[in-house]
Amino acid sequence: MGNNLKTTVMKTLVLKFGGASVATPEHFARVAEIIMSRRSAYPSLVVVVSAMGDATNQLEELARRVNPNPPRREYDMLVSVGERVSISLLAMALACYGCEAISFTGSQSGIITCCSHSNAAIVNVKPWRLHDGLAAGKVVIVAGFQGVSTEGEITTLGRGGSDTTAVALGVALDAEHVEFYKDVAGICEHDPKLHSGVQALPQLNYSQALDIVERTGQVLHPRCLRLAEANGMPLVVKGFVNDQLPGTRIEGDPRGVPTTRHYEKEELRC
Ligand code: ASP
Ligand code: MG
Repeated sequence: MGNNLKTTVMKTLVLKFGGASVATPEHFARVAEIIMSRRSAYPSLVVVVSAMGDATNQLEELARRVNPNPPRREYDMLVSVGERVSISLLAMALACYGCEAISFTGSQSGIITCCSHSNAAIVNVKPWRLHDGLAAGKVVIVAGFQGVSTEGEITTLGRGGSDTTAVALGVALDAEHVEFYKDVAGICEHDPKLHSGVQALPQLNYSQALDIVERTGQVLHPRCLRLAEANGMPLVVKGFVNDQLPGTRIEGDPRGVPTTRHYEKEELRC
């Protein structure tokens, strides 16, 4: 009755780099190194990046100097540019190492949102172009924080939204887990930027993690934790300076993993 050898299907890994890890042009080489070292274990890699440093703040400020109350559609057209700068630079940095990569905006990646500009919910993901890029052996790089509405307009997800992009892609691509690279070594009971000597917690379930990030405002956007919990998607939070440390793993009971994908609820005002 068949053979006993199990074939291991290599799953996709989603990596997410926040604005602090791409703060300057020099940072991109470090991010490229981490990507290449993860690639030896996971040939199928999708990388989500935020805008460089405080680029999104600067774009918001630019908008306000032209119009203190910018039309929300045009706000999205402007601030979504920050992530587009990062994805193209990261693909260029990888090319320096001979690593083939291709960058996509949220809309090219098939991230479908509701039409609530500047605060859109991800209602579906159609990642066809990402599958094509992976099948061609490339590292696929996706702009966080943005998508395309069901009406075909560019939308953004709200500040800090790139974490949610990463989890939504993990769900859509049936990733093994989503790995977040941050400027701290993981999630701690108390904010390590305010308390010295606190250690990253090795393991949390979703509600423990949600409790800590809501109480302390640490590293992960609560919304991405809710999306991960709804889909049983495991998350790992680690530091980009010392990526050899295990960081914090967040997951639920594997028996609770749903068989269908759940994205976000459409905003009522759409
Ligand atoms: N760049 C956007 C922001 O600063 C999205 C993100 O970083 O997650 O809010
Ligand atoms: Mg940012």
